[in-house]
Amino acid sequence: MAILQRRNLLGLGAALGSTLGATLWATPRSALAQAAPAPTGPHTLAPLPYAFDANEAAIDARTMELHWRFHHGGQVNNLNMAIREHTALQALPLDQLLMNLGQVPEAVRTAVRNNGGGHANHSMFWGIMGGRGGEPTGELAAAIAQDFTDFATFRNRFNAAANGVFGSGWAFVTVTQAGRLAIVTRPGQDNPLMDGQRVLIGNDVWEHAYYLRYQNRRAEYTANWWNVIDWSKVATRYAAAKAGTLTV
Ligand code: MN
Repeated sequence: MAILQRRNLLGLGAALGSTLGATLWATPRSALAQAAPAPTGPHTLAPLPYAFDANEAAIDARTMELHWRFHHGGQVNNLNMAIREHTALQALPLDQLLMNLGQVPEAVRTAVRNNGGGHANHSMFWGIMGGRGGEPTGELAAAIAQDFTDFATFRNRFNAAANGVFGSGWAFVTVTQAGRLAIVTRPGQDNPLMDGQRVLIGNDVWEHAYYLRYQNRRAEYTANWWNVIDWSKVATRYAAAKAGTLTV
């Protein structure tokens, strides 16, 4: 749609002999050829694994839809755009791309970092919600007890980290292949994969994640967020981390 509109505008400009039309006349054929449709891959926006209102206990349906469709969707599009002329980068799985940002050409490195990081962060984020909260069980509960004493302490420390992020960013729990856990924060859309660490869970504390319902009350959002965690999905991620198969 946007492309059609742009073509129509350009056609109109040329017909009217306007500045826009003159610009079009002066544009070399090679530059026009680059105005191709936006790439549709290799990265794609997966459907949410639940309805927009599945996380109402913490996040309203409108926020879920806007956040997924436009914030995450925009990052997927921008990532594909950034690597559209880099076939070697297109071939890399997202986690490998983020773990090797130093190999990404400088001209597109920031775009790959921000949009690739955002794609990984949001994919993980959607994947661990849609549940009813409560507490983890089994191996994951044991790991939390080992590294944080108990679940309440773990949750309090995570919330303190999330609430303490200045401006836009994320709080994460990283997981080693040995199953050890740690709480970290990152600014912007950075992801611990950029430092070679795998993510078990993470909470998005950009204002777009909570502003419609909570406005400035981030601590209320981070407290409620635990009510929609699906611990069975987190347990699957934990098992994958120990098996060496966890990606983003
Ligand atoms: Mn977000």
